[in-house]
Amino acid sequence: MANRKTAFQESMETFDRAADLIRLHPRVRLEIEEPDFEHIFYVTIDTRDRLVPLGPEEDARFGDLPPSDVRAADALEPLGDGKFVLHRRALLEADITIRRGVLRIPGKGLFRIERGGPRKFKAYRVQHNQVRGPYKGGIRYHQDVSLDLFKALAADMTWKTAIAEIPFGGAKGGIRIDPFAYSKEEMEHLTLRYVYKLKNLMGPFLDIPAPDVGTHGEIMAIMMRQYTDGEREKHRLRGVVTGKDVRIGGSEGRLKATGQGVVYCIEEWARERAFALKGARVLVQGFGNVGASAAELLAGLGAKIVAVNDAHGTVHSDAGIDVPALVQHVHGNPANLRRTVAGFTGAAAISKADFWGVEADLLVPAALGGELTADVAERLRVRLVAEGANGPTTPEGDRVLAARGIDVIPDVICNAGGVTVSYFEWLQNQRLERWSEAEVNGRLARIIKSNYGVIRDIAADRPRKTDLHDSRPFAIGRTTDVRTAAMVLALKRIEAHYLLEGFSQ
Ligand code: NAD
Repeated sequence: MANRKTAFQESMETFDRAADLIRLHPRVRLEIEEPDFEHIFYVTIDTRDRLVPLGPEEDARFGDLPPSDVRAADALEPLGDGKFVLHRRALLEADITIRRGVLRIPGKGLFRIERGGPRKFKAYRVQHNQVRGPYKGGIRYHQDVSLDLFKALAADMTWKTAIAEIPFGGAKGGIRIDPFAYSKEEMEHLTLRYVYKLKNLMGPFLDIPAPDVGTHGEIMAIMMRQYTDGEREKHRLRGVVTGKDVRIGGSEGRLKATGQGVVYCIEEWARERAFALKGARVLVQGFGNVGASAAELLAGLGAKIVAVNDAHGTVHSDAGIDVPALVQHVHGNPANLRRTVAGFTGAAAISKADFWGVEADLLVPAALGGELTADVAERLRVRLVAEGANGPTTPEGDRVLAARGIDVIPDVICNAGGVTVSYFEWLQNQRLERWSEAEVNGRLARIIKSNYGVIRDIAADRPRKTDLHDSRPFAIGRTTDVRTAAMVLALKRIEAHYLLEGFSQ
């Protein structure tokens, strides 16, 4: 399709609508409609030799190949693509027979040894805007990333930090790789090279990465070490990344913060409608950091998680899925290499197509962008879409949801809990403080609920001041949809910086 819009163009449709509505200052518009910087670079690593499973047709050729006995317990590292990394310690005390590059591992079958060697990966960091504070945004390791996608996600961070009223700008980056097809050590080396190349462009007052799809606290620890090692005042630099383990300067509550923010928004939505979350039926797409924590917290409020879809499967139970058991299956089981809900025995397997049609009250998309197309939106039988993921709904999908009267809590407020607690983590790092989980969640609830209130008031053209929020400076004298209202709030807060600070020439 020649006219297909890019992810960035699609994501800017809301920007254009809101900018027109508030008559955004024309120079401010030019300043923020493109990123400040787009960094594209390459990282290389040496990969290890691998064992690649042979098809059954090869079995006959090697029928008499004796089994190899690899005694070192951690010599073979299973990967998500079915291969094994062959660590050199595999040879210690081993009794191995290799014929034409093939060996037999008892209980696992026949494998061909594939030579490792140097490999090159494309890497990105888009720094969208820093007028309100240092660039801030996640690091994504995924096979489908592109400059276009990172531009859209970096811009989203600029809007999100303004909406959450935290003093950061927007950025996003990562590496084009399937992280499940590489060993822990290879991913560490890749992360070290990424930071090595990016070092001059990041810093606690310059650009602050965090986890996103395919990355987590362990990757953040590696990034922090690589950035701070050898620095004379390294403890001043702990805030260079957020999403760290609590034992090394992370914040209480950060792990669940994005899911918690989603749930605070849903609670506000339910409160306005006097809708009971106890017994509410919920669909969750994606069962990683965001999806699993949102599911756990919603189940804690008495909601029923009736179906969960991820990259490799879908599970469904009309009576409600046992969420702790599903978390254990996905995240507590080292043999579940792709951390998928597939294979969970406590619920029935269904197709992804059927997942969208399951009757429920709420849908929490918490996987990748662009999943809620017009077709999917037509099939949904829910009352609310609470966007845990970034950009899960396409513009056409959005129009269908609106036409069908399905409410949306847009990503820029719904999933802003993660970056908000990242800001708390950064503050604690600067001050060498440690806050309790109750303190973190109390502050998070206030930020998310008050700004969601402002957005709802902009949408309903209801300027007012309450104990929690003041929407009077942001109302635009007419009603609009919630997504546009969220963008209005972001743009007004960003525009104020340019107008009050002026432009350096
Ligand atoms: P994650 O890597 O922990 O989990 C991603 C989940 O999505 C996995 O369950 C995976 O199987 C699933 N998935 C991937 N491709 C899929 C597909 N094609 N269909 C269905 N499911 C698929 O990532 P995460 O950190 O939980 O992030 C999820 C979303 O939330 C992303 O859009 C991310 O940008 C957004 N987000 C994350 C944070 C955060 O703090 N981690 C903050 C704000 C927004």
